Amino acid sequence: MELKTFQHGIHPKYYKELTQDKATVDMPVPQQVIIPLQQHIGAPCKPVVKEKDTVRVGDIVGDAESFISSPVHASVSGVVSKIEPRPHPGGGFVNAVIISTSEEAQTLPPRGDMKDPASLTPDEIRAAVRKGGMVGLGGAGFPTHVKLTPPKDKPIDTVVINGAECEPYLTSDHRMMLEQPEEVLYGTQLIMQAVGAKQAFIGVEANKMAAVETLTKLAASDSRISVIALEVKYPQGAEKMLIQAAVNRQVPPGGLPMDVGVNANNATGAVAIARAVRDGVPVLERIVTVTGKGIQLPQNVRVRIGTPIKEVIEFCGGLTPSAKKVLLGGPMMGIAQSTLDVPVVKTTGGILVLTDEDVQEIKPHPCIRCGKCVDACPMRLIPSRLGMLIERQRFEMIEEYHVNDCMECGCCVYVCPAKRPMVQWIKLGKAVLRTRKK
Ligand code: SF4
Ligand code: SF4
Repeated sequence: MELKTFQHGIHPKYYKELTQDKATVDMPVPQQVIIPLQQHIGAPCKPVVKEKDTVRVGDIVGDAESFISSPVHASVSGVVSKIEPRPHPGGGFVNAVIISTSEEAQTLPPRGDMKDPASLTPDEIRAAVRKGGMVGLGGAGFPTHVKLTPPKDKPIDTVVINGAECEPYLTSDHRMMLEQPEEVLYGTQLIMQAVGAKQAFIGVEANKMAAVETLTKLAASDSRISVIALEVKYPQGAEKMLIQAAVNRQVPPGGLPMDVGVNANNATGAVAIARAVRDGVPVLERIVTVTGKGIQLPQNVRVRIGTPIKEVIEFCGGLTPSAKKVLLGGPMMGIAQSTLDVPVVKTTGGILVLTDEDVQEIKPHPCIRCGKCVDACPMRLIPSRLGMLIERQRFEMIEEYHVNDCMECGCCVYVCPAKRPMVQWIKLGKAVLRTRKK
């Protein structure tokens, strides 16, 4: 089978064997959930409940009028015990609705019959997706109903579903594709109906051939949908890289997939769309890969949104004695946490615990101009130059070098023999530009 891919990128060790062959396990409902009022890119939600209110699983507890926003829901039935700022996985504190779980049954509505997607209008699909609080579950958290509403001058002919899961260690999308493939396919058909696309590609890295085979068999019933095997290369799952590999179209600098007629969504997101449209069930739970040598029992766990990561780690046997660092996400783009009190949010695909052996203190050295970072950068930037400019605080020059096209994938840092922290500098550079523009 021909494997599709993009240019540049890296081949880190994947460590997926820790969890990829284990069936997903359901974690019991926690005593309390913390529902941050911002789990998406866009306007934060305002609480629509108050302390001491009784809520039922699936009730909206926070919403905003802005188009670019997404409501948040009670993932358990119980009583609102507090509304207050709590530590957020993205850093800092965010206002959150804290719900103490009640004694009543906490089951979610059952799965119904799949209606023919063609019998639904695009507006019906978008309304269900918005009401269900769908956001990009692969990491960015962009509201899905916005993505499903392309402007009239940007017609969409193709849907690309991201099943690459190129971040080392993470296997939650993999398990989802193996365990709920019918819903991956149904979600794809719903997205196609919403945006008017005539074809769809589901891209899966070749280290998940069982998922490729399962989805290919199912997709045989819909000639518009193809499953493609992708070369195992990081960051194959980045939207622009995936589109290049799947349909050989280049999203222009500063552009979006819709500029090349594509709507891109994640495989887990497709399942969430299927659940929202078919059953009216919002994003109340997700599969989280709990992994790394710092975890006693690495596995994939289905967790209610708002569950503190401390409890998820305890459910997986706790930390090993050598545990050193906890990241939410994978080792390339995950965010290190300073507290285990943060909750699982819609975009939490993994909890990775690294050990003493994995984590090293690094001291950056001067650039030796080897060019390895330029060869690795999938966005064809010059990371060495950006790093030097930001290190010297020459922020006025970094836009010229397309700093905002950097997707913070970390390939440049991974290959740099001088251990220069380009991503950290680039994040700083972008933040300075944003502040200056304000
Ligand atoms: S400059 Fe940005 S996009 Fe390029 S390799 Fe580094 S982190 Fe990735
Ligand atoms: S890889 Fe590191 S040392 Fe080599 S050119 Fe890039 S920044 Fe300089």
